[in-house]
Amino acid sequence: MKYYSLNNPALETTFKAAVKMGLAPDKGLYFPKEIPALAKDFLERLPNLSKEAIALEVIEPYIGNEIPKAVLKQIIDETLCFEFPIIPVTDTIGSLELFHGPTLAFKDVGARFMARCLGYFNQQDQQTEKSTVLVATSGDTGGAVADGFLGVRGIDVVILYPKGKVSEIQEKQLTTLGKNITALEVDGVFDDCQDMVKTAFLDPEINTKKNLTSANSINVARWLPQMFYYFFAFQALADKNKPLVFSVPSGNFGNLCAGMMAQKMGLPIHHFVASTNSNKVVPEYLKTGNYQTQKTIPTISNAMDVGAPSNFVRIQQIMNHDFDVLQKHLSGYSYDDAQTKAALVRLYQSYNYIADPHGAVGFLGLEAYLNTLETSAYGVFLETAHPIKFLDVVEETLQRTIDMPERLMPLLNREKKALSIDSYTGLKNYLLNTD
Ligand SMILES: *Cc1c(COP(=O)(O)O)cnc(C)c1O
Repeated sequence: MKYYSLNNPALETTFKAAVKMGLAPDKGLYFPKEIPALAKDFLERLPNLSKEAIALEVIEPYIGNEIPKAVLKQIIDETLCFEFPIIPVTDTIGSLELFHGPTLAFKDVGARFMARCLGYFNQQDQQTEKSTVLVATSGDTGGAVADGFLGVRGIDVVILYPKGKVSEIQEKQLTTLGKNITALEVDGVFDDCQDMVKTAFLDPEINTKKNLTSANSINVARWLPQMFYYFFAFQALADKNKPLVFSVPSGNFGNLCAGMMAQKMGLPIHHFVASTNSNKVVPEYLKTGNYQTQKTIPTISNAMDVGAPSNFVRIQQIMNHDFDVLQKHLSGYSYDDAQTKAALVRLYQSYNYIADPHGAVGFLGLEAYLNTLETSAYGVFLETAHPIKFLDVVEETLQRTIDMPERLMPLLNREKKALSIDSYTGLKNYLLNTD
């Protein structure tokens, strides 16, 4: 499959190059040249397919012969090593729990898939020098990337995180893995980490010494495997015999955009809901037709604190830049922290379901949209993180403790290993002085 830059359709490249580069040289996002259609009999066969078989059939056309089928199968097996259950919440609403992966966040799927594709391509190139994945994190992304790349040959991962600004569990996930993962604890905020990473990518001295790669969510190998969730949910809910609506708690809009790709391939999804916190660029746009990026507002669903969603341009492309078509497929709702907390309480008290703040936003958007419908539909909100990852706010809001999942126990006893840096020089010295 060929990919092109959304800034310039003439700038074409392979899947491999798109994965290795992340962003096109003109800073455009890569987009597949064609959106493949599902096989005619796919929906007939779907009830009997394993999740690995679904994933293979869905992703294969996006890769073509650039990864041999046997290797791709193995990548998928290693990516999907956990469950994607749908928990009924009301009669017409279910929670698609995407947090059963190793770092308890839905980003595990994209990170694991991308890590393995990159590992394969580096090995194929017999690249003798290692690649260094450099990533800034406000919490969730770093853990998923670190875990996804752990032990992948030929790749070192360097993660920058803001000191004292990530939760204890998140910090453990970043700092205790060892092997090819290094954590740099930055005396500053997330934006400082992000600035340092950007500076490093443009620093000629570092680039002569290191092959820097980004594991950013705009990478096609992180974006596309997120389509799998929608196929799995569709399969699981076939017996409902109702139009399906997905509400996606959104920040950078990669996850929602993947759902809309799945629909475009032919998966019969009735409608999507973009659910956001106070960072509501997209819901406002859907209401007014006016796309206005905003300064980021900090909220309790902080993985969605994005004022300029990078993947929205891909959604525009899928919808042929037609506002009417977009509105037909997508509605948007936004909620502030007080509404989010009220939803957490209501989910718990009325439905005995403990959500995290991101899932709660998704639930609210879904409910609002379903209320506008005259016909009956079944709604799914994507529960993107385990509530334990947002322990403080969930416990305080629900006035109860949350049990630690068994598999997190060993993590809490592991020893933190991080190097402290307080300026760009610290990062530069580290990168120039390690092999
Ligand atoms: C990253 C993240 C989101 C937002 O996903 P996008 O694809 O950026 O829209 C939502 N919830 C959680 C928990 C996340 O980590």
